Amino acid sequence: MTQVRVRFAPSPTGFLHIGGVRTALFNWLFARQQNGVFVLRIEDTDQSRSTDESIQAIIEGMKWVGLDWDEGPYRQTERIDLYRSHAMQLFEKGQAYWCACKAEELDARRKEAESKGLSPKYDGRCRDRGLRNPDGEAALRFKAPQEGETVVDDLIKGKIVFDNNVQDDLIILRSNGYPTYNFSVVVDDALMRITHVVRGDDHLTNTPRQIPIFQALGFPAPWFGHLPMILGSDKARLSKRHGATSIMAYKDMGYLPDAMVNYLVRLGWSHGDQELFTRQDLIEKFSWKNVQTSAAVFNPEKLLWVNAEYIKISPPSQVALALVPLLEAAGLTDELQAVSDGWLAQLVVLVKERAKTLVEMVDWVRPYFGQTVICDEEAAKKFLTPAIAPILRKLLTRFEAFPVFSKQTWEEAFKQLVEEEGVKMGQLAQPVRVALTGRTASPGLFDVMEVLGRDRTLFRLRQGIEWASHG
Ligand code: GLU
Repeated sequence: MTQVRVRFAPSPTGFLHIGGVRTALFNWLFARQQNGVFVLRIEDTDQSRSTDESIQAIIEGMKWVGLDWDEGPYRQTERIDLYRSHAMQLFEKGQAYWCACKAEELDARRKEAESKGLSPKYDGRCRDRGLRNPDGEAALRFKAPQEGETVVDDLIKGKIVFDNNVQDDLIILRSNGYPTYNFSVVVDDALMRITHVVRGDDHLTNTPRQIPIFQALGFPAPWFGHLPMILGSDKARLSKRHGATSIMAYKDMGYLPDAMVNYLVRLGWSHGDQELFTRQDLIEKFSWKNVQTSAAVFNPEKLLWVNAEYIKISPPSQVALALVPLLEAAGLTDELQAVSDGWLAQLVVLVKERAKTLVEMVDWVRPYFGQTVICDEEAAKKFLTPAIAPILRKLLTRFEAFPVFSKQTWEEAFKQLVEEEGVKMGQLAQPVRVALTGRTASPGLFDVMEVLGRDRTLFRLRQGIEWASHG
């Protein structure tokens, strides 16, 4: 059996957007499942729109979501000679011809045809002229078959039949010697021995143009699959006005790469009702037949839910690693120097039920850095009152008597004091919470103490007593 070879072939004309990642992801999953090869190919022949920054953004984005490639990145601009030599082969075989029609003439003729209700395609004027491109200003056109049909047995959409008589004689080499998209893509897919071409269905109309070029070049056509578009909630094609579309923007917003992958794969693919998948799970369960044929609607709330789930179920050390750059961005670089990886993971466990994104998590974990706490003024005023100061002092004395922290012993000591003083749990817990975290909401009090450790817990308690005594 031939080895599966698939590719992701982005044009580097902007950032890597989530639609592109989804296309890459489906190809990658298929390659991994089939022990195949995943090729990354940068389609940069449109020199006016391609940029190096965009190539970097694509590579950065692919790495962030963990889609590794086995070959490439190839760059089409480094392969121009290959496209030219293959174009000349077609010319030599009589399957391509030089066309000397000027752009303005083509325009005028197209408009005339349209005004008469005729097809706007190239009228074939130079098809049989046998031109040799004497002044080097002609473009090379492919002699597209004009009879019969081209059948695409689409992996996702099923069988689609296209009439050949509507097909244009496409330009394959421009007068400047540069190949066009439809030609370079075929030469590359052929020479790279791509077995399955899977891309967005905005390319569906290109497929019947490309299949005859494979045939003319003497290569077997690969399988094709066309993925339905991603739409915004208003059913318009997903764009900036629906929110961020750049994959890296989601990193900055505190999304985990595995959550993005899980969300994007479900955007148009399903396996029963299952929502959460490990990568291995996806590799095993992925199939083209379960890719939906209609457009998928991007749902930011669902993405947020998936992210929250991943924050809960991912190994805490992994979440901690992803959190570090955001903590640095929040100005906690120095504080980070003072803590261990293990402690960061412990911190993640403490707050992971509360944060839907890493950005939210940064806010939750902020109180646990540094010796002292920044106290919310309202909270201090309400809970750190002179009336509570004596009880807090008693609590401090009892805690100080323990040489080490133990959740169970400290909690017992706390409960006992509450009983002795005849106050309600909350009457003591809230002031302690404010003293330890500076806020009125936090995870369980003794979990907080565990993360802070004995010394800092005592330090902050003393500080709280100080504040309380002064009202
Ligand atoms: N470079 C094309 C694009 O970014 C993709 C071509 C293809 O996958 O065939 O839309």
